[in-house]
Amino acid sequence: MKPRILVTNDDGIYSEGLRKLADALRSVGDVVIVAPDREQSAASHALTLNRPLRLLELAPDEWIVDGTPTDCVNLAVLSVLKTRRPDVVVSGINFGPNLGDDVTYSGTISAAFEGALLSIPSIAFSALVGPGFSFDRCAEFAARATAYILAGDRNPQVVLNVNFPVGEFAGVRITRLGKRVYSEGVIERLDPRGKKYYWIGGEPPLWHPGEGTDFAAVESGFVSITPLHLDLTHHESIPKLKILEETLDHAPKTR
Ligand code: MN
Repeated sequence: MKPRILVTNDDGIYSEGLRKLADALRSVGDVVIVAPDREQSAASHALTLNRPLRLLELAPDEWIVDGTPTDCVNLAVLSVLKTRRPDVVVSGINFGPNLGDDVTYSGTISAAFEGALLSIPSIAFSALVGPGFSFDRCAEFAARATAYILAGDRNPQVVLNVNFPVGEFAGVRITRLGKRVYSEGVIERLDPRGKKYYWIGGEPPLWHPGEGTDFAAVESGFVSITPLHLDLTHHESIPKLKILEETLDHAPKTR
């Protein structure tokens, strides 16, 4: 039996990145698309719990959800595909990078994390955009990477975050997350009625230089692959915080 591939994204069902990705993946397995009905970039790991969600089949094996990327993976795995779970969750290809500290905002990566939470190997693809950029080149690579994941015995807790450089690929680098330089990223303006409004993230972000980072890889023309996991525990702090445990444990009790 051919592997079943769930394809989703945060740019919405009509984005070129999702279409090219799904087409390329048809050589690897049976593709089912469940994607947001509109753009949900920077939706992060939001799950919709305060209103009903609608699921609509646009075409065979192609569904839209009026929710977030996380909603899509949930509905796909627990409803649309519940009789036969997907073998892999593939998210993207995002129009724009998801590097370094920005991964926490990313709907593209959160969809892959949702796959990981449901114990399905998951991979996220994002592309830097500029002169010489091609979704076709990225999609061809994405199909090969997905075939590799399907062939191996992958730990579903580890999500692969793939970022493509703008032009031809110089090669592939396994990387760690880089660090963003935070600057004045909010633009303040007045609307036609004289009321202030704000626009977050005007200028493209700057990054601290660092060897082995995702940012350094894509900047030198390499495809970056960063293994990510959802365990946010800072393990080194556990022994150091024992003192806090004892201090608070033995504090006089208030009655
Ligand atoms: Mn996006």
